[in-house]
Amino acid sequence: MARIFCIANQKGGVGKTTTTVNLAAGLSQIGKRVLVVDLDPQGNATMGSGVDKRALELTVYDVLLENASVAEAHQRSAKAGYDVLGANRELAGAEVELVELERRNERLKGALRAVQADYDFVLIDCPPSLSLLTLNGLCSAHGVIVPMQCEYFALEGLSDLVNTIKQVHANLNPALEIIGLLRVMFDPRITLQQQVSEQLKAHFGDKVFDTVIPRNVRLAEAPSYGLPGVVFDPASKGAQAFVEFAHEMSKRLGAHPAIVA
Ligand code: ADP
Ligand code: MG
Repeated sequence: MARIFCIANQKGGVGKTTTTVNLAAGLSQIGKRVLVVDLDPQGNATMGSGVDKRALELTVYDVLLENASVAEAHQRSAKAGYDVLGANRELAGAEVELVELERRNERLKGALRAVQADYDFVLIDCPPSLSLLTLNGLCSAHGVIVPMQCEYFALEGLSDLVNTIKQVHANLNPALEIIGLLRVMFDPRITLQQQVSEQLKAHFGDKVFDTVIPRNVRLAEAPSYGLPGVVFDPASKGAQAFVEFAHEMSKRLGAHPAIVA
């Protein structure tokens, strides 16, 4: 059965999409069957996996409105090595349309149940907000991976997300937990980043992943080739860090079989 994870942080530009596509590619390289769900109307995870968002006939939007199943709407990205349930601008409208509908928080959850046996991992790339779309992600998931930059306001921004996750855990999805915080775009030469990294470990202990993703230009270049960095330049420091992260995730889950649904 698939383990389902949201990659979430309500801030934009913190590395959610980069984490989603590269973790997906890393897991796929170690033999896991992976589905990436793009829940951001910007469609960056879709494009960054080599799927043209403008050419899609069916997307996650159709799945949320129950006009299509995941099996019907997903694409295979042969180059990236995993499946993609894509998104494009149409998804921005779903927010408004969902408000009117019943089970508005649980549309994605229902749809993913039907494909749980087909994957080992489902990774949901969330938009930069705590919106109804993100809520659909959190209601579907066993856990949340939070990418973050080690900057001055990092901890402050985290409290809104942690509170939302607690509320969803208490009211909507008792299975939900924070799997871990992933330090991304890390530059060890910057003293402040080291300090914030230490603070994170002091606050969150073993909820901070051991793997650290360095700032690496190859990871930033890869999306323009429609590839995750892990596939685009496997020898780069960034790609190697994400493969290491895939191993760490795989190991952590092995140690916590309770979260397998
Ligand atoms: P989000 O999905 O949270 O908005 P992205 O994953 O799109 O964030 O990342 C924001 C920008 O930073 C993108 O241009 C991306 O290519 C770049 N980026 C992300 N991670 C790294 C990294 N480790 N090193 C260098 N650039 C990165
Ligand atoms: Mg993004």
